[in-house]
Amino acid sequence: MPESDAALTSDAMMRAYVMQDMWHGAIEKMPLPQPRRGEVRIRSRYAGICGSDVHAYLGHHIRRRLPLVPGHEASGIVDVLGPGVTEPEPGTAVVVNPEIGCGSCEDCAVGWSNLCRNKVLMGTSSWPGAFAQYFCAPAANLFVLPDDLSLRTAALTEPASVAVHALRKVESWTDQNALIIGAGSIGSTLLVAAKLMGWKHVTVSDVIASKLEEASALGADAVVDVAGASLSEELSRNNVPPPGVVFVAASGTGLIDSCFAVARSRAAIVLLGQFSEAGVIDIDKGRIREQTILGSFTYTRRDFVDALGLLSKNAERFSPLTSRVISLDAADDVIHEMAAGLSRSVKVLIDLGG
Ligand SMILES: [Zn+2]
Ligand SMILES: [Zn+2]
Repeated sequence: MPESDAALTSDAMMRAYVMQDMWHGAIEKMPLPQPRRGEVRIRSRYAGICGSDVHAYLGHHIRRRLPLVPGHEASGIVDVLGPGVTEPEPGTAVVVNPEIGCGSCEDCAVGWSNLCRNKVLMGTSSWPGAFAQYFCAPAANLFVLPDDLSLRTAALTEPASVAVHALRKVESWTDQNALIIGAGSIGSTLLVAAKLMGWKHVTVSDVIASKLEEASALGADAVVDVAGASLSEELSRNNVPPPGVVFVAASGTGLIDSCFAVARSRAAIVLLGQFSEAGVIDIDKGRIREQTILGSFTYTRRDFVDALGLLSKNAERFSPLTSRVISLDAADDVIHEMAAGLSRSVKVLIDLGG
């Protein structure tokens, strides 16, 4: 911990990265947050930078409006219990489910809190996130780390939950060839989870060669680089059979039309990436081949619990995704690099200190 951190902490102040405006964030000093009834204060340990944080930085995210303290892929140590909370006891290592459904709408009532229109998200202006030395969260959203899971790998629980949720949509399709479009953090987490959940053949496509090398190392059965040619050309050049399931962990004009073209008839196309702009799809191409588009949006509590189990049993399979770790002071430079499309990292974690 830099000297300045220690001094600030003892004065009941902390350092936080504040995304202040589009393309601009800075470290600010602010008072330590105080847990309200039902909440716990947590000392941050690792926090992943998510594509949605980058969308916020670009002013594209519908729920993450600036200014805010980002950070919703978080692990940490329980520091102080708020009123009415008796566990987990201070010192316990935890991860945080960063979504709170309203609990009373028709989606929440049947366990689909991910679809709640009134859900509250961590890393927004209404719930400051983990790119800070401390943050607060409801005790009900905390999960104690299994003994065999490190705080560093545990920071992947949230993106792994996104993967588990998407894979559940097509859980009886594991003998189909799968194609994952996009080898970023969601695509790569999805790849590892898919192989662990029994998918026989998974191909990954991207436009960045180094990300595809990483996908190969993470267990992809085939990778295709579409930087210089179309997806259909590259799949046939690499002798990849038409996929029965396509997971779209990227966005872009014409992408869905490409999915219709390369996937087999009756294929499922599962959308995970955020499309920032409305576009035109040649929908009849999908209809005449009876292809189905399935939306996949974050995760439920059950997905989160299952992702934590998957990580703890297979930590070594996920741990290459935690290889790039930066300090809080470097956060703005790295987010800037990602927003400019210059990052070559699959995943970046912020180390919030000991
Ligand atoms: Zn995320
Ligand atoms: Zn609700």
